[in-house]
Formats: sequence, structure tokens, C-alpha cells
Amino acid sequence: MPPKLLTDVRTRAAYAEGAGIYRIVPAGVAIPSDGEELAALVRWAAETRTPLIPRGAGSGMPGGNVGAGVIVDLSRGFTELTVDPHARIARAGASVTWAQVTEAARVHGLRLPPDPSSGAFATSGGMAATNAAGPRSVRYGSVRRWIDAVEVVGAVGDARTVRRGDGRGEMYELTADGRRLIAEHFPKTRKNSSGYALDRFAESGDDLDLLIGSEGTLAFVTAVHWRLDPIPPDIAGVALGFAALSALAEAVPFLVSLNPSAIELLDRSLLRLIPDAPDVACLLLVEFERETSAAARGVVGDAVRGLKDHVAHVETAVDRAGLAKLWEVRRLASPALARLPPSQRSLQVIEDGCVPLERLGDYIAGLRSAAERHAVPIAIFGHAGDGHVHVNALPDVTQKGWQEALTLLFNDVLDVVLRLRGVPAGEHGAGRLRAGVLEQFYGPQVMGLFRDVKRAYDPLSILNPGVIIPAADWAPLAALKVGEDAAAIPDDIAARLRDVERTAGWATPKLELAR
Ligand SMILES: Cc1cc2nc3c(=O)[nH]c(=O)nc-3n(C[C@H](O)[C@H](O)[C@H](O)COP(=O)(O)OP(=O)(O)OC[C@H]3O[C@@H](n4cnc5c(N)ncnc54)[C@H](O)[C@@H]3O)c2cc1C
Repeated sequence: MPPKLLTDVRTRAAYAEGAGIYRIVPAGVAIPSDGEELAALVRWAAETRTPLIPRGAGSGMPGGNVGAGVIVDLSRGFTELTVDPHARIARAGASVTWAQVTEAARVHGLRLPPDPSSGAFATSGGMAATNAAGPRSVRYGSVRRWIDAVEVVGAVGDARTVRRGDGRGEMYELTADGRRLIAEHFPKTRKNSSGYALDRFAESGDDLDLLIGSEGTLAFVTAVHWRLDPIPPDIAGVALGFAALSALAEAVPFLVSLNPSAIELLDRSLLRLIPDAPDVACLLLVEFERETSAAARGVVGDAVRGLKDHVAHVETAVDRAGLAKLWEVRRLASPALARLPPSQRSLQVIEDGCVPLERLGDYIAGLRSAAERHAVPIAIFGHAGDGHVHVNALPDVTQKGWQEALTLLFNDVLDVVLRLRGVPAGEHGAGRLRAGVLEQFYGPQVMGLFRDVKRAYDPLSILNPGVIIPAADWAPLAALKVGEDAAAIPDDIAARLRDVERTAGWATPKLELAR
């Protein structure tokens, strides 16, 4: 039996927003409690041609977790979690968060190395579906490398387990011509979550590589088999401030060559909001994990010596406590953004671009000048070691013309990313926001391959239509949650959704918001 379809106004309103910019009131909400209910729901949707929107915590930013069809909330029913410390595998149901996997693994001295900042609430299903990453991805990659298998329910209600190393894709095969197109057209960035990972699929032939990062458009993930790794014994780090952005071109590749476990950047545009932050053009927070404390301290010394002619500010930390103190400045960034006046909204429209490492300084300069040109304040921070930064656009939404300015900023920044041979999304996915720009990045022929993949897995297009493959009426900055045109929902629910956003309360069950 499919789960009950919830269609009352309050429930639909509570699911109308995720993180990110959109408010789209769904036709209904279903909360399956197990794989059988989910499979029955998918069969019903196929018969009735009803679009389904898979959803975890709703913390994804580009609009893959909202839509006009039926939202399928997988954050509640799929909670089983077992750890096999000998095989170093955790099998986590789709609802299990990164923090829960981490907690269960820690008692065995193990961990899941990629560490999304949203780990407190991001679900296993959501992380696999977006190919999530985090500060430590500079050394450990995105979650793709750490997924051994996924259990899925496909577009006809078929349940199967898809494993790493299974060989030739079960659902889709590449021709020699397709392989050539992929080699020619996929940008060479360290991270990419923009569209189907055909480059990875071409290398491995594993169905798994298409499913990871497919943003709910090819199948529902009901469980993830995570690969775990021993927690490294020692750690040290350094904060390095630079007087000029141009120093990044040399500093970041040098630091990457020292095999750090994180290189996080805080740009002046964000530092200015944080009390007592160093007065520099940008700050890099660098972490090194090593087998001994001597090795960890040694490499911090190498980093400082190697960059002594470039840095305007240096602070070192030789143990976990010291490092936590050093990183406090990064933790203060979110409260600083939350303190902005209510008229100034943080909107994620250019938040996830990734460029080749050596072009990072150019990218930040391009971001700053586009923001200045359109008079939209921005705050830049993120994963410098991967050439990947997050950008919060902070328009004053009480000023006339803010939407037009945001659209111009969106377009200009895409041009900068294209020019630098980057990708529009490093870890958040294409979603609805960027579905219509993928063709500019990959060209029409690779986009044709994306459509073939979609048809192979979901011929009726019931799974998250409009995500990755753009809708015919794609309009990236329509259906906003802010402004006069925002869809009408009850005021108290709108206020609770705003609180969720302000406090990152994505773990709150959405039915609680509807009560
Ligand atoms: C404060 C904050 C910090 C963040 N930091 C990071 C970060 O460091 N790194 C990072 O990568 N992301 C980050 N994000 C984005 C977000 O947390 C991740 O994309 C996360 O993986 C989404 O998980 P979720 O459970 O919230 O999924 P949702 O937002 O609900 O869904 C995201 C996408 O996955 C699909 N999906 C969800 N569950 C399933 C499923 N079971 N089966 C099939 N498809 C599914 C949805 O359809 C949607 O397209 C951050 C977000 C916030 C709000």
C-alpha cells in the first residue's frame, strides 16, 4: 500500500521551502515508512503520471527538494544504522544523518571522512543524491569515493542494490562517440556536482556513478553503504592572512602540495562581518592530519616557512584544542550572517561555483567586481584547496530593483565561471536553479547524453522533473520565497520556515511546522 497522501494546506505549506531561494507549494506530501510503501507509491505515480520529489532534510540549496508534484519525505522512515568495524562499512538508511553515522563509527575509531558543514542534519539519501562534500574533501574527495553501494527504488517501483565494481551500467551504456564527447567537454575541476557524472561513469562503468549526484532524478535512495576510515591520530594547523588576493595563485597550490586535510578560505567580504577578525584581504585556515604529532607540527612549519614572504598574519595550532580555537572565526560566520538586518536576505544563487585551482584568485576578483557592478553585497568563503567557494548574495529586498540586480549577478557570475573553465556547482548540485545553464558548460551534445541517461532510468519522467534536465519554461529566479510574488502560505508557517533557515534547523520534522 502507498502511504497516505497529505494534501491539507498547512502540510503542503510546511514543505514549500528548502534551503535556497524557492517557495513552491507541492500538490501533496507522502511520508513512506519503508521500502515497500515507497515502491507502491512509485507504482501509483507511474500509473497516474504524478511527479515525485524525493526529499531528505530539505537542506539542499538549488531547489531539488521542492516542486509542484508530490514531495516524498525520506527523512523519517529509513532510520536503520549498523556498523561493521572489520569491513569498515556502515549501512545507513536514507534518513540517517552524517552526524549519526559519525557517532556510531567513532566508538570503533572510524569515521566518514568527507564532512559536510550540514552534517548535523544532512541525510544519507540527500548526501548520496547530491554527492556532498566538505572542508576535508581537499584530501578525501566528495562522498562518491566513500559509497560502497546504494539501495534504491527505481522509477517503476523496482528495489535493487547497486554496488561499486559491479561493472557495466545496467541501465545505460556509453558509445565510443559518447566517451569522446565526455573527454572533450567535461571541465577539469577538482569538484563537480553539476549534472550526471558521466566522466566518472566512463571511467568505472558503474551504475553507482550515475546514481551518486543524480539529485533524485533517477531513483530513490533507501540506504547507503558508507566506507569508513580510521580517525587519524594527530592534527595541527595554521591560519594564514594575505594582504592581496593575488597571493592565492601561488599559496593555494603550494599548500595543496603539502597534503592538507582542509584549506578553508574566508574572504574580506565575510571577515568584515565577524568581530575581531584579522584585517586582511583573505584568510586561509589550514589543517593537517598526520600519524604523529611531530609530523603534524613539522608540516605546519613547512607551510609557514614556504609562505613567509606572502603572509600578513600567521597563527599556528599544534593540537585539537588549539585548532578548534583557530577555526572559531569560521564558526562565527553563520551567526554573523544571521545578524544582518531583516531587510537584507541571504540568497543562494551564485553559491557553489568551482574553478581550476590556479584560477581561484581570478574567480574571487570576478565575483567581487560583478557584485560591485550590480550593487549586491556578497560574502565569500569556502573550500580554497578545491578551487571552490560559497557566495552568499545579500540584497536589500526592500530596495526597488533587487530582483533584476540578482538576475544580472547570476548571469555575470556564470560568465566568469565559464571563462575560467569552471563548473556552476561544486557540491550542492544543479537542482532547478542551474538546470538551464548546464548546456552552456557542457555543450548541446553532452546535454543530449544527460537526456539519454534520464530516459534510460525514468522514461516517464516522474522523478524530480525540472531538476538537472531543465523544464521547458525554466526560469531560475522565479518562484522565490522572498518578495511580493512569493506564493501565499499561512503567515505562522512562513515565520517558522524563516526560523528554520536562520537557525539551520533543518532537522525539525516538517509536520511539526504544520501543527
Ligand atoms: C547551513 C548549510 C550548510 C551546508 N553545507 C554543505 C556542505 O558543507 N557540503 C555540501 O555538500 N552541502 C552542504 N549543504 C547543502 C546540503 O546540506 C547538502 O546538499 C545535503 O547533502 C542535502 O541533504 P538533505 O538530506 O537535506 O537533502 P535534501 O535537501 O532534502 O535533497 C537534496 C537533493 O537530493 C535529493 N534527495 C534527497 N534525499 C533523497 C533520497 N533518499 N533519494 C533520492 N534523492 C534524494 C532531493 O531530491 C534533492 O534533489 C549545506 C546546507 C546548509 C543549509
